[in-house]
Amino acid sequence: MVEVFTDSGNVQGSVMGQMTAMGHEQVAFCVDEQTGLKSIIAVHNTNLGPSLGGVRMWPYANEQEALKDALRLSRGMTYKSALAGLKLGGGKSVIIGDSRTQKTEALMRRFGRFVETQNGKYIAAEDVGMSPSDMQAIRKETKHVVGLPESDGGAGDPSPFTAYGVYMGMKAAAMKTTGEDSLEGFRVLVQGVGHVGAYLVGHLVREGAHVMVTDIHEQSLQKLAKQYPVEVVAPDAIYDLPMDVYAPCALGATLNDATLDKLRCSIVAGAANNQLADETIHGQRLMEKGILYVPDFLGNAGGIINCYYDLVGYDAKKVEHKVEEIYSTAMKVFEKAELENIPTYLAANRLAEERFMK
Ligand code: NAD
Repeated sequence: MVEVFTDSGNVQGSVMGQMTAMGHEQVAFCVDEQTGLKSIIAVHNTNLGPSLGGVRMWPYANEQEALKDALRLSRGMTYKSALAGLKLGGGKSVIIGDSRTQKTEALMRRFGRFVETQNGKYIAAEDVGMSPSDMQAIRKETKHVVGLPESDGGAGDPSPFTAYGVYMGMKAAAMKTTGEDSLEGFRVLVQGVGHVGAYLVGHLVREGAHVMVTDIHEQSLQKLAKQYPVEVVAPDAIYDLPMDVYAPCALGATLNDATLDKLRCSIVAGAANNQLADETIHGQRLMEKGILYVPDFLGNAGGIINCYYDLVGYDAKKVEHKVEEIYSTAMKVFEKAELENIPTYLAANRLAEERFMK
C-alpha cells in the first residue's frame, strides 16, 4: 500500500505510472494561453460519490511538482471523506502561478470552465491562494463549486465546525486514555489561534481545561487573551512545556524528529493538515512514546463535512451531528490500532479503505 501523505511515498515515473501507484481514476490538464491558466484536476476515487477538494494556487517550481501535489492531496481527500462517512470521493485541483501577482478574474473564470468540463465528477472548494471572491468568479462558469460565502447562498466559514471536530477527537482521546471524556483540568496547548484555533480555545475553556496558546501573530494572541482566560506562551518554547494535549492548529509537519525528541504529552489532536512530517516514521514514533494521536484527517474533517452539506442541502444541525460522529470514529480508530498493534494513522487509513474500496 502506498501511504497517504508520506513524502517517501511519492512515486516517480510517467503520469499514468504515478496514477496507477496511487490509485487515481483520472487526471485532467488545462493550458490556456490567453488567460495564462495552467491547471491540473486530479480525481482520485469516486466510488462513494463525486470527488470534492480544494483549488490550490501556488507558484510550483515545475509541472512535476504541481502534479505531485495534486495527486497527493486528492488521494488524501478520498481518505478524509470516506473516514468521515460522507458520500464523496477525493479530488483536488492546482493552478500553477503566484496568487498575489498572477490572479485575474479571466483566469479564475477560465478555471471555472475547466471545472465545468468534468461534469460534476470534480467539485471545487477554496484552498491555499484562493479567496471567496475567486470562488465567486469560478461560480460564474460552473455550478460545481462549494463553500461560497453565506451572502451568496453558500455554507460560509467552515472553521467553527472544524474546531468542533477537533474537540470531539480530543474528547475521544481523553476517554481512551483516562476512561472519561472530560477535558477538565487538562493542560492543552493550542498552537495557532487563527480561524480554527480560536474556536477550539472557546470549547476548551468552557470545559475547564487549562489552555495555553501560542501564535506568531501577536495581535491574534492579544485578541484571544482578552476574550478568554488563557496562558500565552512563546512559539519556540512550546515543545519543552509539560502538557496533556498538544493541539497543532497552525502548520503541518510539526511532528518531526526534532519535536518528537522533546514532546511530553499524552494526546496530540489538532486541525493542521499533514501534522506528521513523515507518516510512517513519526506515526510509529508517537506510538512508541505512548502518545495517542488523533489522525489529522479524522479530527479536522469538519470543513469537508460542512462542504458536503453545502452540496446536498445545507442544514447546520445535520453538520453538527455529522461532526459529532468524529468522536465514535476516533474510538473505532483507537480500538483498531490497539487490536492490530499499529499506529493510529494507519488504523484510520485502513478504516477509510474499508469504506471506499470496492
Ligand atoms: P489560519 O491561517 O486562520 O490560522 C493559522 C494561525 O497559525 C495564524 O494565526 C498564524 O499566525 C498561526 N501560525 C502560523 N505559523 C505559526 C507558528 N510557527 N507558530 C504558531 N502559530 C503560527 O488557519 P485556520 O483556518 O485556522 O487553519 C489552521 C490549520 O488547520 C491549517 O493548517 C489548515 O490547513 C487546517 N485546516 C483548517 C480548516 C478550516 O476549516 N479552516 C479545515 C481543515 C484543516
